[in-house]
Amino acid sequence: MAYIEPAPITDKANPFESMMSRFQVASQHLGLDDEVYNVLKSPAKQVIVSLPITMDDGALIVFEGYRVIHSNILGPSKGGIRYDPEVNLDEIKALAAWMTWKCAVVDIPYGGAKGGIRCNPYQMSPGEVERLTRAYTTAMIDVFGTDRDIPAPDMGTGPREMAWMMDQYSRAHGTTINAVVTGKPLVLGGSLGRVEATGRGVMVSALSAMEKLRINPYNATCAIQGFGNVGSHAGLLLEERGVKVVAISDLSGAYYNENGVNLKDAMEHRDKNKNQMKGYEGAESLNPEDLLTLPVDVIVPAAKEDVITSQNADKIRARLIVEGANGPTSAEADDIIHSKGIMVVPDILANAGGVTVSYFEWVQNRMGYKWTGERVNRRSDRIMKDSFNKVYDTAVSYNVSMRIAAYIVAIDKVAKTYKYRGGF
Ligand code: GLU
Repeated sequence: MAYIEPAPITDKANPFESMMSRFQVASQHLGLDDEVYNVLKSPAKQVIVSLPITMDDGALIVFEGYRVIHSNILGPSKGGIRYDPEVNLDEIKALAAWMTWKCAVVDIPYGGAKGGIRCNPYQMSPGEVERLTRAYTTAMIDVFGTDRDIPAPDMGTGPREMAWMMDQYSRAHGTTINAVVTGKPLVLGGSLGRVEATGRGVMVSALSAMEKLRINPYNATCAIQGFGNVGSHAGLLLEERGVKVVAISDLSGAYYNENGVNLKDAMEHRDKNKNQMKGYEGAESLNPEDLLTLPVDVIVPAAKEDVITSQNADKIRARLIVEGANGPTSAEADDIIHSKGIMVVPDILANAGGVTVSYFEWVQNRMGYKWTGERVNRRSDRIMKDSFNKVYDTAVSYNVSMRIAAYIVAIDKVAKTYKYRGGF
C-alpha cells in the first residue's frame, strides 16, 4: 500500500511511532483504503495549555498540560489523565490512539483520548495538586463534556483528582454534572468495581489465555512489574484463583518469594508506606531488571511503556505475557516474542477492563441509578471474555499475533463506522 509511509520499527521508541508500526501492519492485513488510513493515523484534536500555579512556598510555577483527542468516530472520546514528570505530547498522542483501539476492541461506544500534566504529583502537597487539577479542568472546560470528551484516572491520578475535576466542571456549569468524569469516589457517583476493574480485566484475560495454553492456574507462577492500582489488584485476583505470584516490583525495588508473595499483606504495607513497597519484609529483594526474565509461567507488566525491548525480549522465559500497562512492549520486541511462541495478551485488550467499567459508571450517572458490584463484575467479565475470544479467533484466522489481531478487530470497527458516517 503506497500510502503507508515506512514508520521505523523502533525499540525504545517514540511511543506514537511504536503505535503506528502496529497500526500499519494491521491496516495491511485489512486492506484498509488510503482515505480511512489517513483519517485514523491523525489525532482529531491536540490541545496544549500552560497552567501557572502558586506553590505552597509562594513560588509561581508554570506547568504544561495536554489533552489529545485521537478519534470521536465511535462516540465521545474517553481516556485518562496522567500526572508524570515524563509526560510529553508524543506519549499522550500514542496513549490517545491506544484508547481508540481499546474502546473498539471491547465494543463500547467511545472514541479515544488521553491527557496529562508534566509534573511530579508525589512531590507536591495535596493543595498544590488540587490547584493544578482545577486549573487544568478550567483550561479544558470546552474540551471536556459528558457527550464530548470524558476524562478518567491514569498514572499519578485517582478518585481524588476525579472529584476535583467533576466539581470544577460542575461549578463552571452551575449544576452537578457527574457523568463528565469517571473513576470518581463512590459518594460522587463512582461505580462499584471501578477501582479494581483494570486489574480484574487483566485477571480475566490471563485466565482466558491460560485456558488456551492449557496452563492450570493452580500450578502456575506469575511475576508482576508495577504494584500500583492495576498490578496489585490483578495479582490479588489471580492469587484468589490459585496462581502463585512469586515476584512484584515498584519504583522502590523488586521483591521475590518462591512460596508466593502474600499480596494482601504487601498492599497493606504499601498503603501504610506512602504508596511504596520499600522496607517490605515478606519477600527477598530482587534485581528489578531480573523480574521480567524469571522462570515463571506468566508475566504481567503493569507499570510503564517500553519495558520489554529487544534488549531483554530474548531472555523472557514465561509462556504468557498479559499487558496491564499501556505500551509495555516495544514494536521491535514484538517479533522476538512472537517467534519464541510466547502468547501476549496485548494492552488494548488486557487492560480494557478499566475503561469498560468507566463506561458502566457513565451509563449509571446518566440513568441516575446505581448498579450492584455483582452486576458490574458480571458484565465486565463477560465483555472481557468475549473480547478475548474475538481477538483469539481473529489471530487464528489471519495467522497473526494476538496484538496484531486486536488492532485488526479495532481498526476494522472504527473504519467501518467512519465509512457510514463519512467525512466532508
Ligand atoms: N486510564 C485508563 C486506561 O488507560 C482508563 C481510561 C478510562 O477509564 O477512561 O485505560
